[in-house]
Amino acid sequence: MSEQAKSPRPKSPRHVAQVIRAMDTSDGAGVSLKRSVGSPALDMLDPFLMLDSISTDKADDYIAGFPDHPHRGFETVTYMVEGAMRHQDSTGADGILRSGGVQWMTAGSGIIHSETPEQEAGLLQGFQLWINLPGRDKMKPPRYQNLEADEVVEIAPKPGVDLRLVTGSVEGKTGPVSGIATAPLFVDVKLAQGAEITLPVPHGHAAIAYVFIGTADIAGTSIATHHLAVLADGTEVTLRGGDGGGRLLLIAAAPINEPVARYGPFVMNTKAELMQAFDDFQKGRFVASTAIPRHRPPTHSRS
Ligand code: FE
Repeated sequence: MSEQAKSPRPKSPRHVAQVIRAMDTSDGAGVSLKRSVGSPALDMLDPFLMLDSISTDKADDYIAGFPDHPHRGFETVTYMVEGAMRHQDSTGADGILRSGGVQWMTAGSGIIHSETPEQEAGLLQGFQLWINLPGRDKMKPPRYQNLEADEVVEIAPKPGVDLRLVTGSVEGKTGPVSGIATAPLFVDVKLAQGAEITLPVPHGHAAIAYVFIGTADIAGTSIATHHLAVLADGTEVTLRGGDGGGRLLLIAAAPINEPVARYGPFVMNTKAELMQAFDDFQKGRFVASTAIPRHRPPTHSRS
């Protein structure tokens, strides 16, 4: 049982503490994206290190993809709304993430992978979220939780409200991704105009809401497309579809409260551990690969 179940905390609504307009940038081999967490406006929100949104039907904006690059010390979550992305990594894993699917990668001690659009035309819409790992988990072996669209829990609690739950609990259901150190909530919320839902968000957890289609009222504040609302503390948040409806990601997780030493794709606790990560990478000590050259420098700051 959770602490909350043993001694219920009085309900308190979360409010919007900060609104951030996602910044246009590019990463990988030239993929256009919008960055909210991890931008100058919000360097990080413990345990969230980065939130990127890709949303374009111009092939030139995404076709180059993200060639081989490493990760160590944190988790990358790729949520595909529309389109397809192939991933290949240094453990030999190879797969295609399709519309509605999720890849939750706990990079741990390190992987080298590539992320390549598996389409040459059409809309590509999706997210990548980076969540930090506590020091005790940073050097654990990599772990993947790959979910097809039909494995994500879909809930329609009332007319005009459609939820897709990846992890955490809402409306008496629990999402399929499990065993994550920061006990995250990750839910895609689609709201018809005026439709309203109040969802629980564990007290003390960092929480953000990113509107990616239309507009939504978040705790009474109207949030436009490609804007991020950072929520103040509380136990729940009320969401309502704006004019024409809206769709957003509601994400929460427990802060880690440890020092962060970060450089590009390596996120450790100390500078010495960061130097070790570079050394291990240069010397090919990340998970061995037969398919991927191991000595390329980590030129990509992102994924
Ligand atoms: Fe990556």
